[in-house]
Amino acid sequence: MDIGTTIIGAGVVGLAVAARCSQDHKNVFVIEKNEKFGQETSSRNSEVIHAGIYYPPNSLKARLCVEGRQLLYALCEARRIPFRKCGKLIVAINKTEEDFLASIEAKARNNGVEDLQYLSGDQVVRMEPTVRAVSALFSPSTGIIHSHRLMRYFVAQAQRNNVQFVYRCLVERVEPLSGPRYRVHVRYPDGQTEKFTTRYLVNCAGLESDRIAASTGIDVHVHQYEQFFWKGEYFSVVPAPGTINHLIYPVPLPNNEGLGIHATIDMSGRVKLGPNTIFLPQRSYDYTVDAAHRKDFFVAARRYLTGLQLDDLAPDYAGIRPKLQKPGDAVRDFIIQEESAKGMPGLVNLIGIESPGLTASPAIAEHVVRLLP
Ligand SMILES: Cc1cc2nc3c(=O)[nH]c(=O)nc-3n(C[C@H](O)[C@H](O)[C@H](O)COP(=O)(O)OP(=O)(O)OC[C@H]3O[C@@H](n4cnc5c(N)ncnc54)[C@H](O)[C@@H]3O)c2cc1C
Repeated sequence: MDIGTTIIGAGVVGLAVAARCSQDHKNVFVIEKNEKFGQETSSRNSEVIHAGIYYPPNSLKARLCVEGRQLLYALCEARRIPFRKCGKLIVAINKTEEDFLASIEAKARNNGVEDLQYLSGDQVVRMEPTVRAVSALFSPSTGIIHSHRLMRYFVAQAQRNNVQFVYRCLVERVEPLSGPRYRVHVRYPDGQTEKFTTRYLVNCAGLESDRIAASTGIDVHVHQYEQFFWKGEYFSVVPAPGTINHLIYPVPLPNNEGLGIHATIDMSGRVKLGPNTIFLPQRSYDYTVDAAHRKDFFVAARRYLTGLQLDDLAPDYAGIRPKLQKPGDAVRDFIIQEESAKGMPGLVNLIGIESPGLTASPAIAEHVVRLLP
């Protein structure tokens, strides 16, 4: 079989790429190892539409987050994908944290996020009676989205453009042939194997995308494509509805490993706390939530959520971030690379697509299409 464009992975990024790419390209296939789309990181996240506040200036994360957020809101409105532009508060609970707010605001402004507003402690209480802060930054353009409905929309759009979805099909390796052409080796759950050729290949395999890249012969150590797994656990807050109306974030950790335990709401009004940030040295798909972490979540969130009780917290779910850095390393950007320079034209690798990958997904798709010949 000879395919035009093959996309590996039916997470939100692969689906966005399929929907967008099939507008211009014919004979597009999506290959997914699970039996349905969106079974991995894309359904194990906070479902926040990020404004683009924290990312390093001129990074892909900053640029694609801001662009993606604008595209997402327009898409949600036009296509009736459930979302809420609920806004978020970044709360400082003491003078030291308050001093950080100015640098956050400056970084955001540099990224094109110009709508952050300073709030006094009294203004915070008026907006959120159960939240304590000496001051805060309010981000009106942060929101939440029903991520499954977004993915369903991308699938429907792709199918309208005749994209073929092949589920339960594991890509074992990719063999570059001469010219823009690749032989893809796949395996089905019954052990049967198959191979096909494709002209263009977009590697959106999330947690496995570095391994797919390695199978083409790219040295992932030399090119720094190696991904590291970082688990993020969530606890739900049980007497939830009505307790908060905005997303509440602490001032982020100085180590760049996460945004700190924050309180989010989802489209059904459920309040949850998280995620924390746990390095998984073995790259294991460990989605367990350790109930013993309840106290840590409580202590972190109680700093700003005054009414919270330890008994309100119940272990919920976990996701895994594919980061390009190990503990202590500097924060890294997304890698979205067309590989002509490595002798593999028409191959686009997407590596390290952690947060804000959901927000950025429609902008990532536009970017990938521009990279394809
Ligand atoms: C805890 C947590 C919180 C987050 N919160 C947010 C947030 O609030 N807002 C935000 O914007 N972003 C957030 N993110 C980031 C966001 O969820 C991800 O960036 C996004 O979901 C990545 O999508 P993806 O399609 O690249 O990966 P995935 O969803 O992992 O999809 C990859 C797909 O590839 C398939 N695959 C892998 N290997 C193979 C193979 N060999 N053969 C065939 N198929 C294969 C997998 O089965 C999977 O379906 C968060 C992430 C985490 C972990």
